[in-house]
Amino acid sequence: MKSDHREPSSPPDALSRRIFFQRVGTMAVGTAAVALGPQDAESAPSVSPLPTLPAGSPENLLLRMQADVRRAMGKPLEQRRWAMGIDVRKCVGCSACTVACAVENKLPPGMFYRVVIEETSGEFPDVRRRFFPRPCLHCDQPPCVEPCPVTPMKATRKRPDGIVEIDYETCIGCGLCVDACPYGARALDNGDFYTDGTPRRQAYESAPAWEYGHERRRDGSSPPVAKARKCHLCLHRLEAGMLPACVATCICNGVYVGDLNDPASLVSELVKKPGVMRLREELGTKPSVFHIV
Ligand code: SF4
Repeated sequence: MKSDHREPSSPPDALSRRIFFQRVGTMAVGTAAVALGPQDAESAPSVSPLPTLPAGSPENLLLRMQADVRRAMGKPLEQRRWAMGIDVRKCVGCSACTVACAVENKLPPGMFYRVVIEETSGEFPDVRRRFFPRPCLHCDQPPCVEPCPVTPMKATRKRPDGIVEIDYETCIGCGLCVDACPYGARALDNGDFYTDGTPRRQAYESAPAWEYGHERRRDGSSPPVAKARKCHLCLHRLEAGMLPACVATCICNGVYVGDLNDPASLVSELVKKPGVMRLREELGTKPSVFHIV
């Protein structure tokens, strides 16, 4: 498989205004949402209701998934099982998900939580090209966790809800987990900024991000600089009843998230379909991210 990360391109003209405004509407609803975890149920203000579509409208997958997320967040953490599905047949390789993720998480230059791997097969004129978006796969048997030398509790661990997390406060930036991931899903934050070398660093680059909640400083005095970083399934958005940035942004409606422990969720439905595969399954890592090919 040839692997190269590509520069983003413009969405295809075929993106209809209807789909665009449906998507923007869903993102706006998500922005207005608030924390939904059971631990916050009493103190949290009420959540904006999801819009309902007229009877007979085609199913809006984003609204369905947002309802799935809210149901999941209403359950105790250990009763949900997050998973992501990616329909490779729909992916056009536009990298909108990659860019949305980088913006959402204020990623430094050269770091991408979610790359789009390209595969070209066949010979001219019978050539085929496929795109495999690849975030952290939140493996059930994650080889990145065991090498972490931090004690008594490792700085990276598998949560009961399936998310493999990194604790920036205790990570020592040794890079052992980065080397251990067979998918190349982790990297160390080198403290660079996009506006380095320009007359003035732009304030938005170091402003607090939802992921870590405070200013990012080059000198490493505040995480995540010099720490291992990777996709966290936009946990901050899930906790607010919102879809991960990549899911909300995909121009093809080809990325899905939800709770595998909920038989009514879209991901539970999709994971049973033919054509479901997991990247490098032979490694025994048991990814929670599945691809539909
Ligand atoms: Fe760890 Fe890599 Fe699996 Fe993510 S994809 S859980 S970083 S081994």
